[in-house]
Amino acid sequence: MAWDFETDAEFQKELDWVDQFVRNEVEPLDHILGSPYDIRNPRNQKLVRPLQAEVRKHKLWACHLGPELGGPGYGQLKLALMNEIIGRSSWAPTVFGCAAPDTGNAEILALYGTAEQKARFLQPLLDGELCSTFAMTEPQAGADPKEFVCKAWQEGDEWVIDGEKWYASNARLSAFHIVMAVTNPENPPHQRLSMFVVPTDVPGINILRNVAGMNDLPDSGTHGYVRYDHVRVPLDAMLGGPGEGWRIAQTTLTSERSSIAGGMGVTPAALIAFAQRFGTGDPVVRQALMDVHIRFELLRFLRYRSQTALSQGRAPGPESSVMKLAFARYMQALTSTAISVQGAWGLLGGADVADDGMWLRRFLHSPSLRIAGGSDQVQANIMGERALGLPPEPRSDKDVPFRELARGPR
Ligand SMILES: Cc1cc2nc3c(=O)[nH]c(=O)nc-3n(C[C@H](O)[C@H](O)[C@H](O)COP(=O)(O)OP(=O)(O)OC[C@H]3O[C@@H](n4cnc5c(N)ncnc54)[C@H](O)[C@@H]3O)c2cc1C
Repeated sequence: MAWDFETDAEFQKELDWVDQFVRNEVEPLDHILGSPYDIRNPRNQKLVRPLQAEVRKHKLWACHLGPELGGPGYGQLKLALMNEIIGRSSWAPTVFGCAAPDTGNAEILALYGTAEQKARFLQPLLDGELCSTFAMTEPQAGADPKEFVCKAWQEGDEWVIDGEKWYASNARLSAFHIVMAVTNPENPPHQRLSMFVVPTDVPGINILRNVAGMNDLPDSGTHGYVRYDHVRVPLDAMLGGPGEGWRIAQTTLTSERSSIAGGMGVTPAALIAFAQRFGTGDPVVRQALMDVHIRFELLRFLRYRSQTALSQGRAPGPESSVMKLAFARYMQALTSTAISVQGAWGLLGGADVADDGMWLRRFLHSPSLRIAGGSDQVQANIMGERALGLPPEPRSDKDVPFRELARGPR
């Protein structure tokens, strides 16, 4: 039985390099460049390509992937340690080849794509030449598969996809979408859906608008409200088998959660901001710093536990749910404190966003952490099922009345 809380010395050296590199070369990009998903923009390429080359030289590119796909295959725990540093910067995931949802989409293509799809979509994605979209959530349904209506049916040697998706992040910038559509309506809800790879240049993909989240800059909405109007793709565009879409989607949550929770890595910067504002002599300030530090260390422990479970090949279970829930609440509290201790400076936004003003964006982003990647209550339900000994996934198809109450009429 091994209980080892140390990182091996060799990997620690890599982490030290990542720390310096992100601080000196990558974090400044967050203040001068726009969306990290706008990777085909020549200005972004000029600045970002040399940094990506440096990361490859250190064999730290696409660490979520195994060697057969061009990554070092470090596994979920080392990935979590790296993400704690990478999560400090919005550009770092792109510089290190591990930005969500591209990470999950790459895993899906690697496992279920044909040789031709791998050459056309996966390779350029791994090479950082393009970005992709994962289109599952629907405007009238949210992420509830029982209510999905976007459908696909076979006509001759093609699939025809018809329906709407919402919150399809980066749809305006991406080269292909992975779309979930109902193909087997006769099945139970979690087995009705199939997954398709759809290049964005086929006729019938209409972005109705780009929805802006609270933390998006004005006029720079990043979440596509997309209408697929009888979009035609070949039969082999289906990834996996008919009715397997939901199951496949769950498998990609592993590396995505790791990258999302890496956001906790902003904590040391927050502590410095607190200390700079108030100094460290005051006992009240010391207490505040200590409280943040303790919560940070506890969260780290939860993360390592959940990532260890994943690296041992276990499906995301209660460890992952505890971590996700604790992380989302922590970030909301941390960013709120970081702003308030900085007074008016902490509230700077819009054109005035300067170094410290980044906290306002992080604060505005923090409520979405309680929703994206599985909402708080969904995590709480998973934990509760295990604690109460109720049957785990797959869920029953029974309607949950309080969910309808939470949702309200549509
Ligand atoms: C920043 C961001 C980016 C996103 N990007 C993408 C993307 O690229 N592609 C994509 O397809 N989707 C994307 N989404 C959508 C995301 O996957 C969903 O919003 C998320 O899974 C939650 O689903 P929902 O919005 O339907 O909320 P719901 O799950 O309906 O949650 C609404 C409320 O109901 C509660 N609730 C939910 N289920 C239960 C239950 N069983 N019991 C009790 N209470 C419950 C929740 O806690 C919450 O309070 C994104 C969302 C955000 C915020």
